[in-house]
Amino acid sequence: MRRILVTGGAGYIGSHVVKALGEAGYDVLTYDNLSTGNEWAVLYGKLFVGDLSDKDTIRRAIQDFKPDVVMHFAAFIQVEESVREPLKYYRNNTVNTLNLLEVMIESGVKDLIFSSTAAVYGIPEHIPVNEGTPLNPINPYGISKMMTERILKDLSFAYDDFRYVSLRYFNVAGADAQGRIGQAYRESTHLITRALKTAKGEFEKLQIFGTDYTTPDGTCIRDYIHVDDLADAHLHAVEYLIQGGKSDIFNCGYGHGYSVREVVETAKKVTGINFNVKETGRRQGDPPVLVADNSKIKQKLNWHPQYDDLEYIIKTAWEWEKKLDT
Ligand code: UDP
Repeated sequence: MRRILVTGGAGYIGSHVVKALGEAGYDVLTYDNLSTGNEWAVLYGKLFVGDLSDKDTIRRAIQDFKPDVVMHFAAFIQVEESVREPLKYYRNNTVNTLNLLEVMIESGVKDLIFSSTAAVYGIPEHIPVNEGTPLNPINPYGISKMMTERILKDLSFAYDDFRYVSLRYFNVAGADAQGRIGQAYRESTHLITRALKTAKGEFEKLQIFGTDYTTPDGTCIRDYIHVDDLADAHLHAVEYLIQGGKSDIFNCGYGHGYSVREVVETAKKVTGINFNVKETGRRQGDPPVLVADNSKIKQKLNWHPQYDDLEYIIKTAWEWEKKLDT
């Protein structure tokens, strides 16, 4: 049985990937400091509580578990926060990743799947954006991830047997259909989470950040992907590495987007609640449009998404959100 060490496996995306790996028969160890993740979210394998700032702890986990592949999710992900607190992002997302990579190299673990982001593209000239587009992130979050991608590329040149797959996530949302796991980080500022928390009465109103973008309705457009489809992309990526695939980078999105207003309308429809919405100014660090060209992952990894349906995405997130406080 192949062994996969998953950093950030107790977090939102990581826990859905741990579920998918467990269901597929992999032996999983989650490495997580529980800063935003939860012990109950780890449905398969053991949880090792540790921080990526501490190399000795990483070394213990890796040398005991002896993973075949490492999947690295542990990171901070809020764009606006990264603009206010850039050092927090460079420290956790970039510098701490160096600790993980150093321990991997010294322990002979040479395969990595890295959680990257569409934020590395910044404001792309062409939509949908493909993987060959020059990287030009416009916020520290995107820069912190781009720097790590750069490091991985250099490592793969330096060591013939070091291979990585970098997956650039577009906007991940939704929850486990059986309602076992979902976005549980209370401070999450993501649009769908905030809209549903507003519907639930946790916030008085949902703010729409910017209505003067050069998009048809003036609000930003994003490519929303269901977290279980994203988890499945990771299964394809790990199989690709196990079968000897070369280092590569893939977009993870559906190839079409929705505006903030469309998301808000769909959230109102799904919940049946006409929650308050307030149009306000732009949020710092937001590109107007981010939509994936996903042809590469479909062709090379044979990934076939199943949940390309905004209502389904929001419905699963809503079922989860309603359960959260009960
Ligand atoms: N957004 C919004 N109100 C909110 C949260 C987000 O209008 O309360 C907008 C945000 O400005 C962006 C889009 O929704 O245009 C998606 O933001 P999110 O934080 O979900 O993901 P990001 O694209 O920043 O990773």
